[in-house]
Amino acid sequence: MKTIKAIRGMNDLLPKQTVVWQYLEAEIRALLNGYGYQEIRMPVVEYTDLFKRSIGEVTDIVEKEMYTFNDRNNESLTLRPEGTAGCVRAGEQHGLFYNQVQRLWYAGPMFRYERPQKGRYRQFHQIGVEVFGLDGPDIDAELLLMTARLWRRLGLSDAVILQLNTLGNSESRNRFKIALVEYLTQHKEQLDEDSQRRLDSNPLRILDSKSSQTQQLLDGAPKLIDFLDNESLQHFEQLKNLLDQAGIQYQVNPRLVRGLDYYGKTVFEWVTDQLGAQGTVCAGGRYNGLVEQLGGRTTPAVGFAMGIERLILLLETCGVIPETVSNDADIYLMTPADGAQSRGFEIAEMLRETFPSLRVVCHCGGGNFKRQMKRAVDSKASYALILGSEEIESGEISVKALEGKHPQQRLSKDGLVDFIRQEYSA
Ligand code: ATP
Ligand code: MG
Repeated sequence: MKTIKAIRGMNDLLPKQTVVWQYLEAEIRALLNGYGYQEIRMPVVEYTDLFKRSIGEVTDIVEKEMYTFNDRNNESLTLRPEGTAGCVRAGEQHGLFYNQVQRLWYAGPMFRYERPQKGRYRQFHQIGVEVFGLDGPDIDAELLLMTARLWRRLGLSDAVILQLNTLGNSESRNRFKIALVEYLTQHKEQLDEDSQRRLDSNPLRILDSKSSQTQQLLDGAPKLIDFLDNESLQHFEQLKNLLDQAGIQYQVNPRLVRGLDYYGKTVFEWVTDQLGAQGTVCAGGRYNGLVEQLGGRTTPAVGFAMGIERLILLLETCGVIPETVSNDADIYLMTPADGAQSRGFEIAEMLRETFPSLRVVCHCGGGNFKRQMKRAVDSKASYALILGSEEIESGEISVKALEGKHPQQRLSKDGLVDFIRQEYSA
């Protein structure tokens, strides 16, 4: 019979990888905690309309990337392609927004039907951050300070740069769109195919076209900055000032737009040149109109999402995963003597009780000394504890270092506790 494989673009994470994921996730959780952000968990599936109404009908995601299906009740549901829409839906549904400030984060899988390649998958994972109820540039700056601190913690500061832009309010953006379309329509035949299509549906997206000919054409196009309203310009200036004062470097990229409809004012991306085409590891911006667009009261909002797979790739590429990030056991407890198993469990439980962070693996499955020693070595444990017949008789236990050249010692139960306390006190 043919075996069944995982779906293309949806990856298993094996123990070698999950240990790195756990490290990264723990770092991010600790960071968010340190800034007073609180976790929210939303379902992975939502009504299709939620995404159509928030992300926008003419975006790549809604046009061609969503996993949409009818459930048994014939309602159209969609596996979430991103977290912002669900987060806004949940916040509105539970009354988190009115007259309140919320600093929220979420983590989990997202689903997009894209062409799988390095850094681009069909099930991928994001950690997202959304702040509601604050309109000023100070909170935009806080989000960027926070991400900059994360890169420092992870050793990635030199690998990423911040690109920054402002999209203005919707009136100024609309006036710019009209001018841009007018200009580009005159040169339509020089546009790449995607951009020609977007001319009608989503002209702003043409700004980040990958085609060099299109980019050349844009050099002569009207500039968004010339259409911006004063309020947005001021917001942007203040944000840049705060970043300057905090010593955060950035590049203003006037062609930076985001693929989703709901952004206005600040938009940003942290990008790296070390992952090839999939270089954006963190992206976000301000979306003051979205809560209202989904039926709530006007609520200013700003947020971002990090792509966990890309961050893991970057950690690996930069070689900055700490050596302590490992699944290796500390202690492997061998029980080669007949009837030593229960005594082994007893000692292991005592150690786990005394040293809660110690990783103690008990040999199971029997076998002679040689076989058990092989398992001990395979476990990469630092020490093997051995309960042979002599040890059972004398009520002691032998300790053998599996690396280095300590002699094997036989210790009492108390002696063992002292020994381990000393070894792991550093
Ligand atoms: P891209 O331009 O690379 O397609 P995007 O603009 O579609 O990205 P967002 O919707 O802003 O991405 O998602 C935020 C982050 O999530 C991205 O910066 C990236 O790190 C990650 N991401 C997005 N799509 C994928 C995917 N298919 N596979 C892996 N990571 C992804
Ligand atoms: Mg995309």
